[in-house]
Amino acid sequence: MTMSGADMPYSEMVECYRIMESTTKRGELTDALVSLFRKTPIDIIDKVIYLNQGKLYPDYMGIEVGVGEKLAIRAISQASGIDSKKVEELYRRLGDLGSAAEEVLRERVQTSLFSKQLTVVQVYDTLDKIARTSGEGSLDTRLSLLSGLLVNSKPEEAKYIIRTAIGKLRLGVADYTALDALAIAFTRDKSNRAELERAYNLCSDLGLVASTVAARGVGGLRAFKVEVGKPIRPMLAERLPSSSDIIKKLGGRCSAEYKFDGERMQIHKNGRQVVIFSRRLERITNNYPDAVRLAEDSISAETAILECEAVAVDSETGDLLPFQQLMHRRRKYGIEEAMQTIPISLFFFDLLMVNGKDMTRVRYTERRKELQKVVIVGEHTKVAPAKLITSPRTMDRYMEEAIQAGCEGLMVKDLKGTYQAGSRGFLWIKLKREYRSELTDTLDLVVVGGFHGRGRRTGVYGAFLLAVYNEDDDVFESVSKVGTGFSDADLERFHKELKDLVLPQRSPRVKSTMKADVWFVPKLVVEVIASEVTLSPIHVAGWGKVRKNSGLALRFPKFTGKVRDDKSPEEATTTKELVEMYRMQLKKVEETRESSA
Ligand code: ATP
Repeated sequence: MTMSGADMPYSEMVECYRIMESTTKRGELTDALVSLFRKTPIDIIDKVIYLNQGKLYPDYMGIEVGVGEKLAIRAISQASGIDSKKVEELYRRLGDLGSAAEEVLRERVQTSLFSKQLTVVQVYDTLDKIARTSGEGSLDTRLSLLSGLLVNSKPEEAKYIIRTAIGKLRLGVADYTALDALAIAFTRDKSNRAELERAYNLCSDLGLVASTVAARGVGGLRAFKVEVGKPIRPMLAERLPSSSDIIKKLGGRCSAEYKFDGERMQIHKNGRQVVIFSRRLERITNNYPDAVRLAEDSISAETAILECEAVAVDSETGDLLPFQQLMHRRRKYGIEEAMQTIPISLFFFDLLMVNGKDMTRVRYTERRKELQKVVIVGEHTKVAPAKLITSPRTMDRYMEEAIQAGCEGLMVKDLKGTYQAGSRGFLWIKLKREYRSELTDTLDLVVVGGFHGRGRRTGVYGAFLLAVYNEDDDVFESVSKVGTGFSDADLERFHKELKDLVLPQRSPRVKSTMKADVWFVPKLVVEVIASEVTLSPIHVAGWGKVRKNSGLALRFPKFTGKVRDDKSPEEATTTKELVEMYRMQLKKVEETRESSA
């Protein structure tokens, strides 16, 4: 084997993949990763990390290998000398193109006797070239790059290369499992994971975090700062049922802000350049030329990172429109037309960096003061209104005002709170209109299974199995079967979108005793409302957490019409939140009983 520079045989990764595929136990997954990381030369740890997640770069860069199935089939055929038709047939039979490649290469005609050992850098660089090759005549280049790689690979290696190339590696390594493994491999102490997590939350780049800890240890992580251009994982809010609970929790004084119902944006301004990231940290700059223009005109600092809510407004009345309109605009119209028909306004609510100064460690009151200095208020650019609150009555009145103005409720903030990237805590607490009625808050659930429709719904799914996310075990736990609230158009659309996510069996990351007709890769997130959270012998969400031999489910669940494209499955409602909702509801019932006694 000849390797120039730091490198490692690709077979080391394949060995790890093999273990990961055969287990669903988180401990075993972590062990496999730790042993792989320990073998990896420091200089290529980032490449190993990305490849492990089936990627080449952090998500926010938006670069995918993006090989289509057709091209992959041609490459397999070329590398093996076996007819494409036969490859296709095998693919149909096995349901996985990677396995088809493996099998075909086992029988390959053109055995290259002197095949060298494939290395990680070769695989990475070739896939990277493929990702970057586009435009006229690029198809042939991509084809020859991929088939060249396959010619030199062993059958099992080919399986994973193909899956990576077509974007279906799916080993189920969540970021947090990888962080655990990095902590153990490079600091020999799992408790350092908190430092790793902090760094990750500030830059959203697992490869960068890995290279930093591998080269400079925990010290390197502590020196981590926010940087313009690298998205920060958003701070999230907890919920409490009433204004008095919130005030108590926040020590008697807090700031209540209008809670707008739009799309969260993280705006990075670097001189004249503006980049916008979504809540999921995808670059959405090109989807919102109007937001870019608004940001250019309204941010006075040279470099800054701000957060705002972009809200659709009625072009005639100027009234705020609900979130659906904004998503609708993303899908239905061309961008130019959309900007005319449904203009947006930006309501800024946080400042994370200004002229190089990391503001995430600064308390809320300071950040807000600076925010007001940085934002130039205009017709469509405002700072979210806020009020200092010390009594439940004032909060309730302010809530009424917010709702009148077209908001969902209030976002109440701890005056001394720093910006806790990527974490959900009580420094921000949301209070919504729904909490005051019988209903629970809305839940964002992951579609993990489907049930064939009947009658009018023949040919599409008539109901779905939905799940919450269990952060501790990194799995999705079934919580409800939902068939209400879907329009015919919704069902058509879901059927189409889920096609690509169908699995031959239940994903190892899904926990459910209920059997769906069809299982999906947990990916699509939908919003559901229900009348209450109930105990359930069938659904496994929060199993045993509230009562022995019982999980939690939803009563009268209904799809609200919102697809949460802005949330990844790991950002769905968590098991912990569901348990909290159940407890909150019990408390409310007790209070009503007391007050009517
Ligand atoms: P979460 O973001 O908490 O997972 P979610 O996306 O379903 O949940 P909500 O629970 O309704 O949204 O509330 C949080 C969201 O509210 C934020 O992510 C942000 O987009 C939005 N928001 C609107 N106004 C504000 C504000 N003034 N301060 C902070 N966030 C705000």
